[in-house]
Amino acid sequence: MAEVVFNNLQKVYTNGFKAVHGINLTIADGEFMVIVGPSGCAKSTTLRMLAGLETISGGEVRIGDRVVNNLAPKSRGIAMVFQNYALYPHMTVKENLAFGLKLSKLPKEQIEEQVTEAAKILELGELMDRLPRQLSGGQAQRVAVGRAIVKKPDVFLFDEPLSNLDAKLRASMRIRISDLHKQLKKSGKPATTVYVTHDQTEAMTMGDRICVMKLGHIMQVDTPDNLYHFPKNMFVAGFIGAPEMNIKPSKLVEQDGKIGLTVGNYTLELNQYQQEKVAAHVGEDVFFGVRPEFIAISESPFEGNHSQGELVRVENMGHEFFVYLKVNDFELTCRIPSDDVKPILKNGLHRPVYFKFDMNKCHIFDAKTEKNISL
Ligand code: ADP
Repeated sequence: MAEVVFNNLQKVYTNGFKAVHGINLTIADGEFMVIVGPSGCAKSTTLRMLAGLETISGGEVRIGDRVVNNLAPKSRGIAMVFQNYALYPHMTVKENLAFGLKLSKLPKEQIEEQVTEAAKILELGELMDRLPRQLSGGQAQRVAVGRAIVKKPDVFLFDEPLSNLDAKLRASMRIRISDLHKQLKKSGKPATTVYVTHDQTEAMTMGDRICVMKLGHIMQVDTPDNLYHFPKNMFVAGFIGAPEMNIKPSKLVEQDGKIGLTVGNYTLELNQYQQEKVAAHVGEDVFFGVRPEFIAISESPFEGNHSQGELVRVENMGHEFFVYLKVNDFELTCRIPSDDVKPILKNGLHRPVYFKFDMNKCHIFDAKTEKNISL
């Protein structure tokens, strides 16, 4: 059993800077938890407190049934993979894999067995006699992951492990690490995994759940799907998803007994559920949010709610286009399937087109608290 629990966990650095503001998080045994957030949000500080590489200023960290606040890193049942592989340069791959096990004085045969098993899982066979300088970045990182696996830890910790790799390698390593996690689970030896990254794609594709942080606070902990479709606040809404959700200042108004949202010169009618949710906020400033894929564009007017904007820019992604519309003083990003946008583009840029939001997919955020008031 290796559930990981942060209980009112705090970090104040010696210069008085409070980096972690009393966070609470429970990571289930065998769960793959990604901690994500922009640079400086205290992801690494949090992970390092879990690893025992940073002192804890307040609250507690529990691994399994032990409070580990004052335990040395090597006694916590963890293995950590860093961004800069940190392999021993004068040792071969095989020696690198075996080194930690030798230190813990395991019998020779057992070391051999664990090293062979890790090498097999990560397909390191042909590389075993090479030195780190004879490896590519991706291969070196595989060895670093292997060095963590051989320890058979209760908890795997990853600190931005793929940031030094190019985009293609990152994508394949992402899959490899996810597969490894699944494989361990299947074999009945699930390893709780805590994976820190600033990259929301890694978070979305790898995490069972994702913990989004901002300035030492947790903003939301949820499944990738829930974070994407039901963000609890404006920060999560803007951080998760690429291209970003369109988030624009607006106002809630009442018109003919119905509640609507002002966008530029238009008022958009909300659905019944949204009207009930935001009823207490009529007259207030809000932000409205809509993801780029929930906007449609057309040469001719849509039925019902629609507006007009100037087609200012397009980016061709192959199967779809990112289309940028200027509406009054703001710009909207739309994701439109190629077949739908090509006929429109025949007539060129810098002219008005009609657009329409899928109102059922819109979010409304309180301008003061930035909370999503439409959920
Ligand atoms: P992240 O991993 O999310 O980029 P960090 O955990 O590295 O963020 O840092 C969180 C905050 O703590 C940052 O504002 C950083 O400047 C600050 N910080 C990190 N290390 C120290 C330190 N040794 N002394 C003071 N402040 C620190």
